[in-house]
Amino acid sequence: MQGSHAAAAYHPDAILAGGGIIGLTLAVELRRRGLSVTVVERGQAMSSASWAAGGMLAVDDPQNPSALMPLCRLSRALYPEFLERVELLCGQRVPLRTQQALQYVDAQVPHGLRMATREPIAALAPGLEPGDLQFALLEEGSLDPNDLRTALPAAVLAAGGNILEETTVLGVKAGASGVRIQTASGVLSAGVFVNCCGAWAGDAALGGLPIAPVKGQMLNLHCAPERLRCVVRAPGVYLIPRGEGRVTIGSTIEDAGFDETVREASIAALAERARALVPELQPRPQAEHWAGLRPGTPDALPVLGAAAMEHCWHATGHYRDGILLAPATARLMAQMILGETPEIPVGDFSPRRFATAREGFRAAS
Ligand SMILES: Cc1cc2nc3c(=O)[nH]c(=O)nc-3n(C[C@H](O)[C@H](O)[C@H](O)COP(=O)(O)OP(=O)(O)OC[C@H]3O[C@@H](n4cnc5c(N)ncnc54)[C@H](O)[C@@H]3O)c2cc1C
Repeated sequence: MQGSHAAAAYHPDAILAGGGIIGLTLAVELRRRGLSVTVVERGQAMSSASWAAGGMLAVDDPQNPSALMPLCRLSRALYPEFLERVELLCGQRVPLRTQQALQYVDAQVPHGLRMATREPIAALAPGLEPGDLQFALLEEGSLDPNDLRTALPAAVLAAGGNILEETTVLGVKAGASGVRIQTASGVLSAGVFVNCCGAWAGDAALGGLPIAPVKGQMLNLHCAPERLRCVVRAPGVYLIPRGEGRVTIGSTIEDAGFDETVREASIAALAERARALVPELQPRPQAEHWAGLRPGTPDALPVLGAAAMEHCWHATGHYRDGILLAPATARLMAQMILGETPEIPVGDFSPRRFATAREGFRAAS
């Protein structure tokens, strides 16, 4: 997926480091606004957290920090338009595979949530054995990140953006009219630089933000499609049916550095919790499990805004909600980069809230 321009001669308006959902969705949005864009990706686009994710658009998850709510709502509102644009650009449809979710609630029902009676549970999830658990019924969609994995890079290219894969950003230096970006295979230049490096965005070369990887392990089990037709979130486990019998089960939340090893014991524990809820779930003979790294921040809020270095920006730290938050992130970042007022307040997400961050990118040589 190499861009067609010789690196030394080409000076796009924006270079985005990181070819996950955040970098690629921002690339589509900046192209829509008329900017030339190159995404520089260390490995393959859409192969890190954005592929490993569950794909729940969990706007009303009671575990979300309340300060995240306006961003969640904006992103939910933008999602249909985002998926339509991707399809229009590349011809690949990314469907919502579920439209509702059963969210476990304990004695205290969170404000605004509607308890699910027995009827909707029986209709949406006849295979579910809830036991003593109580659920709220949420109007919440989910997608399969595998669908985005091919569609989103194709949409960026179709929009006229470049993607340079197998190219690591090693340092950034600001000049009078833009940035020089040191990569493992040469120096690039651009008008602005955006750090979209997910769990790796805290690298000293990218400004030293306090971003930490939070490991999540996942697996697939299978049952007849009609037995589970909505997401189920229960204590210590969630189940995401994909519509053809495959059900993605997640996830661990681990502080394990950059380790992405799948552990048999963790997978077995998740499978056991899932089968306690839907006993018909079965594994396939071939292993279907994986792990990914969420980009965590100290306050569980993303980092969106200008970096200390001129012409540099951060769009990262989306922790458990980067699939949901990508369209709103792209919209707000494009507005900020273009000097417009962002359509919702972004103060809570400012990079400046981390006073201890060693702001200042490692210089390009
Ligand atoms: C198990 C799991 C389940 C999840 N479930 C959900 C869910 O249901 N719903 C939801 O909304 N979110 C979910 N998330 C969170 C979501 O996946 C992330 O928030 C989101 O993918 C972050 O996107 P990103 O583009 O910032 O990061 P990534 O997708 O990780 O992309 C970052 C990219 O940057 C590249 N990179 C790193 N360093 C450099 C460098 N120096 N130079 C060039 N490139 C570099 C990496 O190779 C990588 O491709 C889940 C995450 C995990 C791990």
